[in-house]
Amino acid sequence: MAERSLRGRSIGAKSLESDEGVVLAERRDVVYVCPQGHRTIVSFASQAAAPATWFCHCGLACIQENSDGDPLESGKPKRSHYDMLMERRSEEELKKLLAERLEKHANGGDLLD
Ligand SMILES: [Zn+2]
Repeated sequence: MAERSLRGRSIGAKSLESDEGVVLAERRDVVYVCPQGHRTIVSFASQAAAPATWFCHCGLACIQENSDGDPLESGKPKRSHYDMLMERRSEEELKKLLAERLEKHANGGDLLD
């Protein structure tokens, strides 16, 4: 058996390699703007093609700043489940459905039946 002891190292321990002499790939920052005006700056390797759209923290699609696309067109907010529901049913119908469901539930029925 070797004289040297094996030292335990935790998972995720930092590398012992130094970053001395490491040259980072050239980067460029691409700015995306969402329809609400939020700006998101994303770094890409200079050779990498930046995607045409990016998703903002608010959930809307952003386009690259200074691109030709119309931000209101390409960043059109997606319809939510609620929006789609409201397209199919009137508020009056929904109130009636809810009342029926609640009544069923009150009588011991399963809400999802
Ligand atoms: Zn946004």
